[in-house]
Amino acid sequence: MSEEKVTTQAKAPVAVAQDKDKGCSADRATNWKDAEKEFEKLSSTKKLRTPKSQYAITIAVSSRCLFNMVEERKIYEQDGVESYVKYQQEHEEEPLKEGPAFPLVKALETVNLRLRELYPDSDEIFDVVLMTNNHAQVGVRLINSINHYDLSIERFCMTGGKSPIGYLKAYLTNLYLSSDSEKVGEAIEAGIAAATMFQGEKGLHLSDSQLRVAFDGDAVLFSDESEKIVKAHGLDMFFEHEQKFEDKPLAQGPLKGFLEVLGKLQKKFHAKDLRLNCPIRTYLVTARSAASSGARALKTLRSWGLEVDEALFLAGAPKGPLLEKIRPHIFFDDQMFHVKGAQALGTIAAHVPYGIGQKYNKSTPITEQAKKS
Ligand SMILES: [Mg+2]
Repeated sequence: MSEEKVTTQAKAPVAVAQDKDKGCSADRATNWKDAEKEFEKLSSTKKLRTPKSQYAITIAVSSRCLFNMVEERKIYEQDGVESYVKYQQEHEEEPLKEGPAFPLVKALETVNLRLRELYPDSDEIFDVVLMTNNHAQVGVRLINSINHYDLSIERFCMTGGKSPIGYLKAYLTNLYLSSDSEKVGEAIEAGIAAATMFQGEKGLHLSDSQLRVAFDGDAVLFSDESEKIVKAHGLDMFFEHEQKFEDKPLAQGPLKGFLEVLGKLQKKFHAKDLRLNCPIRTYLVTARSAASSGARALKTLRSWGLEVDEALFLAGAPKGPLLEKIRPHIFFDDQMFHVKGAQALGTIAAHVPYGIGQKYNKSTPITEQAKKS
């Protein structure tokens, strides 16, 4: 965003000056272009060029999501902030362990490398921003850990304990991932795609050449309008309702925009004849059944001009075993029992706190779960 702001601010005085002194404004414009070129030369040549925010697909990740900081968190909770900062400083040469978002961030970088090979001048790639409310001194350990794993994260946002919403908006965030369910809830309320991430309970080997993203349908890609019918009137009424309104697209849910940007990038690979070997693969994993309610889900995606590579209709069967086969880098669901079922079998699952389902999630200690992860 900073570049975007600089560009806007820099352009305005040039435009005003044009009326007064055309020669002078031309000089200023040239100087500004020269300065911009000089600034670009300062970028590292070893790492991928950081994309301009207005073109990039921005994924904001919290430090506790990127790295496993369970032990450090315990020190913070038991002994307070001073002991925590002291511990982090004493261990700043020791890289943090990988957290639930780590494999996803690596997979995003793999996609970026492929995109930059195919489209060297395009900034339409993923840009990971690290969001943290950690003490500035802890930042050194975070930077050391990022360098240790050779991650391409150039943007840091240290919120100092303040709500991240303003920053998320400023960075034009396409997806916010955190371990803090309250902050995720605030982001969803503000209309930003967001989810609370949970580490899989056993390590699964994930693809290192293809980013795989699995989405639930209702209250994730779609609104919760049909979910409300199930909760209020049961499955029979739901099936009847979905068949009756089969041709009426569902309203969009909180993660629709993220599927949309993935689709946009997929098309760039398809355009280079890589449809069968695309480094991004998407999945719809829904409890809907194909015969009675699946058509409305597929027709809705079609009406948006979106597609998923695989659509799996489970008709109420558990999602965990199937996800274990898919091995996504992230699976989004609004129902905690699906998140937990997936997590138990090793899938990295993310909870989207949206819609009527949350009323029924309240019996589950989401906050405690988030603190543990
Ligand atoms: Mg759902």
